[in-house]
Amino acid sequence: MRFVIIGGDAAGMSAASRAKRNNPELEVIVLEQGHDVSYSACNIPYNIAAPEREIDDLVVRSADAFRQKQEIDLRTGHRVDAIIPEEKTISGIAQDNSSFRLSYDHLLIATGASPIRPQIDGIDLPGVFVVKNLEDGRGIKEFLKTRQVRQCVIIGMGYIALEMAEALSERAIAIDMIKPRKGLLPWLDENLAHQVRTHLDEQGVGLHDGHTLEKIVQQGEQLQVISSDMHLDCDMVIVAIGVSPNAELARQAGLQLSVSDSISVDHQLRTSVPEIFAAGDCADSYHLVTDEKTWIPLALRANRAGWAVADTVCGHPVRLAGIAGTAVFKTFAMQVARSGLTQDEATKAGFEPVSVQIQAKSRAGIYPGAQPIYVAMVGDKATGLLLGAQAVGTDQVAHRINAVAVALQAKMSVMEFTQADLAYAPPFGPTWDPFLIAANQLLKKLV
Ligand SMILES: Cc1cc2nc3c(=O)[nH]c(=O)nc-3n(C[C@H](O)[C@H](O)[C@H](O)COP(=O)(O)OP(=O)(O)OC[C@H]3O[C@@H](n4cnc5c(N)ncnc54)[C@H](O)[C@@H]3O)c2cc1C
Repeated sequence: MRFVIIGGDAAGMSAASRAKRNNPELEVIVLEQGHDVSYSACNIPYNIAAPEREIDDLVVRSADAFRQKQEIDLRTGHRVDAIIPEEKTISGIAQDNSSFRLSYDHLLIATGASPIRPQIDGIDLPGVFVVKNLEDGRGIKEFLKTRQVRQCVIIGMGYIALEMAEALSERAIAIDMIKPRKGLLPWLDENLAHQVRTHLDEQGVGLHDGHTLEKIVQQGEQLQVISSDMHLDCDMVIVAIGVSPNAELARQAGLQLSVSDSISVDHQLRTSVPEIFAAGDCADSYHLVTDEKTWIPLALRANRAGWAVADTVCGHPVRLAGIAGTAVFKTFAMQVARSGLTQDEATKAGFEPVSVQIQAKSRAGIYPGAQPIYVAMVGDKATGLLLGAQAVGTDQVAHRINAVAVALQAKMSVMEFTQADLAYAPPFGPTWDPFLIAANQLLKKLV
């Protein structure tokens, strides 16, 4: 039996490794258009911050290790151009420009997502970068090594943009950030977003939201980012305005697409053609709170979905429940965490949301280093269910959100969450964890 996988990063290589471990006799072929496989994209900003580190440090397992130790037929430099479901074949172009055609018994599409590039003049100029894969990381590090970069403009203010702001500041580069829509992190509760904004102001980051980009122009060695009502001079531009799923192969093959044009899959990761699976950033998933389809491209889901497909292909069917959209990131010292729905998302999903915002301490009040934590929590007036929570702060915020993630998975009510036996000791939190304080307040509004 032959299992063919398109894409050799988180979802694709997780599936390949797991399938070989499950069944060493299975023929596993991975086709990857690039030359890097199985690397930590999430660590790229932190690697860029450290000039002494090699970008190749981010390779989790080398292509040769997959080939030699696991006997996976991994073909780098192979781009798949078409899937022909009726013939159970795929075709594409190999590194030496020859075309190839392969049959499969099971196929996994794990093609990930691509950075969105605004359609403006100057987007392809030297010194303008996206941050998606190791090749991008190499390009940025080389540019920083060979050019005097004192000023960078980051287009976008999402989590990767904000991680890059911190990374480049660590290299003594002044940062301006710009985006067309007003508001920093619009999905975040207003008061929480205000804390993040204040922190970025204190770090000297120029935040220019509400400015429509027009073009990027080159002036000698320098670049200028021009919007309708301002211009920003810089030596380098980072474009980080989000990603879109690589679903073109699936679309052309007639597979059903879903939210944000991601590939539609069921709980077993099967597409609308049962022997073709899709996993990772290219595919949708079910939201644990709404039970509706959603598209939230994050690393754990990609790895988990890759495993699940491998198990199913090897005869041990796995059904994935879904995701709660749990995410954390930091920018400078500020940590941001969320899980579940925001008030707006809950309204759109048909709930009757009620929310609270509280301020608590990250450690026992009198323990040295205690810092404010700001929590927002949303519950459903009609059912009493916990719907989501967010938190920001500079100390011990990120991992706290995992309690909420588990509660959402268990479909707990706010009342049940108030009874959770969360840990306490002075260095780690107040007696009542900030999320318990929020839940207690929310409960008062729900009854
Ligand atoms: C800078 C950065 C920071 C991040 N930080 C976090 C974080 O902190 N936490 C988190 O959860 N997630 C984070 N992510 C997201 C996370 O990296 C992705 O969710 C994860 O990599 C998705 O894995 P994937 O295998 O689905 O897709 P990808 O990693 O995009 O891999 C897809 C692969 O498919 C290949 N491919 C595409 N089309 C073809 C084709 N036609 N033929 C052959 N090969 C093809 C591509 O070359 C690529 O190697 C971050 C991402 C970036 C870029």
